[in-house]
Amino acid sequence: MPKSLAGEQIGILGLARSGLAAARLALARGARVYASDAGDSDASRQAAETVRSLGGDAETGGHDLTKLGASDRIVLSPGIPPTAKVLKEEAIGGIPVVPEIELAYEQLDCPVIAITGTNGKTTVTALIEHLMRGDGIDAVAGGNIGTALSEVALREPQPAWAIVECSSFQLGGIRHFNPKIGVLTNLAPDHLDWYPDLEAYYADKARMYVNASADSLWILNAEDERAATLLGDAPGTRLYFRAETPPDSEDELGGWVSSGTLVIRTEPGRTERVIPAAGLQILGPHNIANALAAALAARLAGASLEGIAEGLRTFQAPPHRLQPVADVDGVLWVNDSKATNIASTRVAVRGMTRPTVLLLGGKHKGEPYTELLPDLAGHVRAVIAYGEAAPLIVADLEGKAPVERVDGPFEDVVRRARERAHEGDAVLLSPACSSFDMFRNYEARGERFAQLAREGRAG
Ligand code: ADP
Repeated sequence: MPKSLAGEQIGILGLARSGLAAARLALARGARVYASDAGDSDASRQAAETVRSLGGDAETGGHDLTKLGASDRIVLSPGIPPTAKVLKEEAIGGIPVVPEIELAYEQLDCPVIAITGTNGKTTVTALIEHLMRGDGIDAVAGGNIGTALSEVALREPQPAWAIVECSSFQLGGIRHFNPKIGVLTNLAPDHLDWYPDLEAYYADKARMYVNASADSLWILNAEDERAATLLGDAPGTRLYFRAETPPDSEDELGGWVSSGTLVIRTEPGRTERVIPAAGLQILGPHNIANALAAALAARLAGASLEGIAEGLRTFQAPPHRLQPVADVDGVLWVNDSKATNIASTRVAVRGMTRPTVLLLGGKHKGEPYTELLPDLAGHVRAVIAYGEAAPLIVADLEGKAPVERVDGPFEDVVRRARERAHEGDAVLLSPACSSFDMFRNYEARGERFAQLAREGRAG
């Protein structure tokens, strides 16, 4: 049964996909809505128009603080950082601010699988959806990925499961959000440009567990100590995935690799062989971890072993995640534009089997590039530093790795990569930085890279 919001005045910050979906949901449940967006793009203006046509109030190009200040609560779109200026305005002080996933969760009438962690969230979320839908279960992915969770909440009939990718920012504000199954992929430094320190970032991730009960099921990375222990003594059953180590005991529930085969145990005494690791189309040890985590979640949510095996065989890397995009004159061009922190670039470099020219740069996010050095020593032929972060990258790597700086447009960066690559090499865009100095987002960066690689324009 949908829960009525009649009589509630809801403010909504942000009018992109999730904000608009939240406005639709709130209006459909009888709330009064005022939605606003600081930006004034065609898309946000159109979204405002839609809200008005549904009976709400909306504006773009700024926020009316009097109207926002009259809200019973304010819903925050995922794209708005908790540090946004508007959140510090006195006029809205004391009004509860909740993330869009919280409003949507209240209205969902199905159990939730939540996925959080520093890296691998989208891959694991998409993979769980693929495994469950392939097995005939009506599971829908939402949250940071594809569909906003508010859209899922509006779906009639409700799906059997909602699979929700959660960023730390969204988890930070939850109150009742309580997944039946929670996956924590890993924890590594990220978003130091927004959080005061790492502990604050990890603390937001830990909010996934705040409403845990004895029925909760937690899928944790045994090979990442911080991630394995973040839960503390929260109630629920723990299952551990391990890409490289065997389980600690015969009683441990989880997933691991035995003689090259992915194995899962979701019930005591029931150990199931899924598929050989070589049967996966997604590459690198980190993707074995992702596959194990997803297989465990799907199995716990009722998918058959056969369905999971088939789904793992057919799943391909989502775009911009270690995605081969061109093979030109014997050089393989790999788009890993989604690697926006050091940890994700490290796994990408480790996953390369060819001599590699690495494109590193963009908008700096706060971590030192020296942490890449152990992985660069193997087969990285050249590092090309570009974008705003270029001087910092060069300062960190100079004299210790073959780094050079290219100023100027992205075409010049790609041209230099082509000059440096030999036949049989790979050119890897795995920037360890966000894209916003030169591009609208990481997708635009990856698409431009792929286009230039295919055109051979830089040659
Ligand atoms: P997220 O949604 O958490 O950003 P993605 O699935 O989009 O994660 O992957 C982002 C990048 O992180 C990928 O390009 C890859 O380089 C890296 N990555 C993916 N899975 C993992 C993992 N399990 N551990 C570490 N890095 C990973």
